[in-house]
Amino acid sequence: MNIDTIVQTQKNFFATQQTKNISTRRALLKKLLTVLIKEEKNITNALYADFKKSEYESVMTETSIVISELKRTIKHLNSWAKPQSVTPAFLNFPSWSKIYKEPYGAVLVISPWNYPYQLALVPLIGAIAAGNTVVLKPSELTPNTSNIINQIVSTVFSPEHATVVQGGVDVSTELLAQRWDYIFFTGSVSVGKIVAKAAAQFLTPVTLELGGKNPCIIDKSANIKLATKRIVWGKFINGGQTCIAPDYLLIHRSVKEAFVTHFQKEINKAYGENPEQSEDYPRIINERNFNRLKLMLKGETILVGGKTNSKDNYIAPTLIDEPSIDSEVMKGEIFGPIAPVITYETKEDLHKIISHYEKPLALYVFSNQQSFAKEIISKYSFGGGTINDTTVHFANHHLPFGGVGESGIGGYHGKQTFDIFCHKKGVTKRYNWLDIPVRYAPYKGKLNTLKTFMRLFS
Ligand code: NAD
Repeated sequence: MNIDTIVQTQKNFFATQQTKNISTRRALLKKLLTVLIKEEKNITNALYADFKKSEYESVMTETSIVISELKRTIKHLNSWAKPQSVTPAFLNFPSWSKIYKEPYGAVLVISPWNYPYQLALVPLIGAIAAGNTVVLKPSELTPNTSNIINQIVSTVFSPEHATVVQGGVDVSTELLAQRWDYIFFTGSVSVGKIVAKAAAQFLTPVTLELGGKNPCIIDKSANIKLATKRIVWGKFINGGQTCIAPDYLLIHRSVKEAFVTHFQKEINKAYGENPEQSEDYPRIINERNFNRLKLMLKGETILVGGKTNSKDNYIAPTLIDEPSIDSEVMKGEIFGPIAPVITYETKEDLHKIISHYEKPLALYVFSNQQSFAKEIISKYSFGGGTINDTTVHFANHHLPFGGVGESGIGGYHGKQTFDIFCHKKGVTKRYNWLDIPVRYAPYKGKLNTLKTFMRLFS
């Protein structure tokens, strides 16, 4: 089927109103849950085949996240979808007011390669739960995972309700040329801008989950040993290819030495003396990204790691000493297992570096001084963050997950995933047994009554 036909078929299906039936939505989501649980091993195998992501990391950061989001959605769907009564305006007396959760219609989801399962499935679940049709375009760089996603979606849904379209930039471009009712995109800032431009043509609303250069501040009061352990985990999970991984480390000069010593120890503990042999350490997704990252090491002082192997796109967990602000590694988002260390002494030093970049997707601050951490959190604008750990704000589905400024538009997870896929339609019903005359013409002689009325009751 060509893309025009796929989209038209879904639009026709949406017009039949069938996607709005809440028990149908629940039944389909339950069916999806059964299939996802049954296929878990095949999914983790696919992720391993794509970039040597271990089963353990796949269960922790992909399959479990999808399963819990899906279970939560099934459990709460009735109450989330129900029209929500709000206090009626006194000026409308007598009346009631409700917010209806209206599905947008035909939704396009485009997902990236770095968490290729989770970042494709979670938006799909939200869009279906909210009553939309979905075309999902997973990443072409993870063909094994994209194939299994395709298999799962076609087992559970009829193609007019949800379907997977595979392909690269050309297919994505063709999809973006269509008129959608909503676009949910996860990926790079540069492609995010292409998506926003395509959406603007039809004023299509978008969620853009993008990237950024995430600072990680380690204050002199921090528990250095624990901070290092948590930074090593958050930086090198998924081979450093995580949108919310700490990008660069801003370390108070007085604790740098201790940090570097612990860093080497933590790497050894997690991945052994030679991480290349570790079953737990993933590879860089492709040669292009491998070469991009390798270039960042050129001419830099390596404190830890630094080894690369082009045979299977291996880059060791690496710590770089004091790169200059215009070096390759400090230019844009690193998106790989390389951590530059930059020392600071004053808050002004920190500000100079952080404010040099666009608003990041995440920010981390390690400090035992509450006032310092609070000041950082309120001073800088960023998508979301954690104090005294890295990346774990992601795990709380009550928190909106998303960026701000260049790192994205809109937040999701939990109920918010459902909410972003519906238009909140405000409706008021008036009763007929009373009709207060003050608003009607002729107005002559009623101004003072109007003023009193509106000031008292609005
Ligand atoms: P990408 O932008 O290259 O690709 C994402 C998707 O867009 C893919 O499906 C791809 O096929 C498609 N695409 C690529 N070029 C396109 C073009 N010119 N026109 C239309 N579609 C195009 O991103 P990626 O390399 O897959 O992922 C890495 C980026 O994603 C990083 O910047 C990372 O920070 C970001 N990311 C953000 C989040 C988040 O939740 N905010 C999560 C994961 C990744």
